[in-house]
Amino acid sequence: MSVSVDAACQATTAPLPVLGHDVTVPLVTGGEVTYAALDYAASAPALQRVWDDVAAYAPYYGSVHRGAGYLSQLSTDLFENSRVAVAEFLGCRADDQVVFTRSTTDSLNLLAAVLPAGCEVFVFETEHHASLLPWRDARVTYLDAPRTPAEAVAALERALAARAGDGPALVCVTGASNVTGELWPVRELAAAAHAHGARIVLDAAQLAPHHPVSVTDLDVDWVAFSGHKLYAPFGSGVLAGRADWLQAAEPYLAGGGASRTVGRRADGGVDVEWHTTAARHEAGSPNVIGVYAIAAACKALTEAGFDRLVAREQRLVARVREGLAEVPAVRVLSLFGDDAPRVGVISFVVEGWNSSHFAAALSAEYGIGVRDGLFCAHPLVRTLLGSDPQTQGECGSPEAAPGEKSLNAIRVSFGAGTPDEHVERFVGAVKELVTEGARWNYRTVDGRCVPAV
Ligand code: PMP
Repeated sequence: MSVSVDAACQATTAPLPVLGHDVTVPLVTGGEVTYAALDYAASAPALQRVWDDVAAYAPYYGSVHRGAGYLSQLSTDLFENSRVAVAEFLGCRADDQVVFTRSTTDSLNLLAAVLPAGCEVFVFETEHHASLLPWRDARVTYLDAPRTPAEAVAALERALAARAGDGPALVCVTGASNVTGELWPVRELAAAAHAHGARIVLDAAQLAPHHPVSVTDLDVDWVAFSGHKLYAPFGSGVLAGRADWLQAAEPYLAGGGASRTVGRRADGGVDVEWHTTAARHEAGSPNVIGVYAIAAACKALTEAGFDRLVAREQRLVARVREGLAEVPAVRVLSLFGDDAPRVGVISFVVEGWNSSHFAAALSAEYGIGVRDGLFCAHPLVRTLLGSDPQTQGECGSPEAAPGEKSLNAIRVSFGAGTPDEHVERFVGAVKELVTEGARWNYRTVDGRCVPAV
């Protein structure tokens, strides 16, 4: 039976069952409550379907690529078929390669390791540290935070036009911000990059779990994402895209699996012939369970109908934003403004509250898990807060007095496993904390704000 997007949009239960939906946690004020996991942007819960598929495969688990036995062959087939499933999920071109990594961070570090000599890199200061920092051996141009998507495209155009030569260049951009949830104009940035002879890699860590991604439609050269944000928490990630830079470079890790043949040379050294497939960058025994889990998640999202998942999530986004807008003390962080399209990732500060204190109270008094801090995007969050780059917010530090700048922020994030009740509980809790204050005392222990016993 097919479910219409409209009907799915109205559904109050999570469209995709996830593990942990019935886990209860204690409240400091007494009693227990089901845990409201609202930190999907850090790690999303596992899809029940992913868990079931992994459990069904587990007895058949065997070594990949090396064993002659039946289960080794089965595991090798599952591993290689997972590559095909991921390529389909990402709408890859026929000659793209899908390399399995540990995470988005690992994928972008892999790409940084295969940049051609002299490659220039262009990256906005607003990026997650995983996109901002791996380019240590390249000449990097950091672009200032744009205030509209059009400004982002114009800034990139200007920077690329000002390049001295026409050597290789790479633009790295996020699809959806892990701080504001706002979508970046990826297609337009890709067109600008290509018009200036540059390539582009899409950090889809936050986009892929919330929105269909098509390498071909967006015309990006590579895409990177993590399994644990895509409901497949088994320590695997993906870098997919153009084969040429990947195959022209030395392997990311040297070892078995990446090498086709190794022999001794007359001078006593060793000669290595490396693979020219994705295996070139997958040395060592691969994480077959993690890879299989990613493929299972890709299939589950596709089969559920990504459009209806997006439609329902957008209803939750609107509900959270409406609820927060009703609290004058709350300021939602945004780069591109209220009308910008966004996914279910929303950061905010509360006037008069230290964000760590607020997040601790949401957890201890309401059983709601959010995140507080600078979200591994320090330059962006500090720009949005207008805070001094040298100071860190801490629970033990004084509450931000009315009118004073916050030092860190609170982030709420959700997705296909979130029932309406979690979002309603969150909105109600924010209102209650702001109007009535915390019912408990909190203190800092090892840098974390926790209830004082
Ligand atoms: N990019 C973005 C936009 C992210 O949100 C994250 C994780 N917060 C990463 C990259 C890094 O992902 P991972 O920690 O899985 O490597």
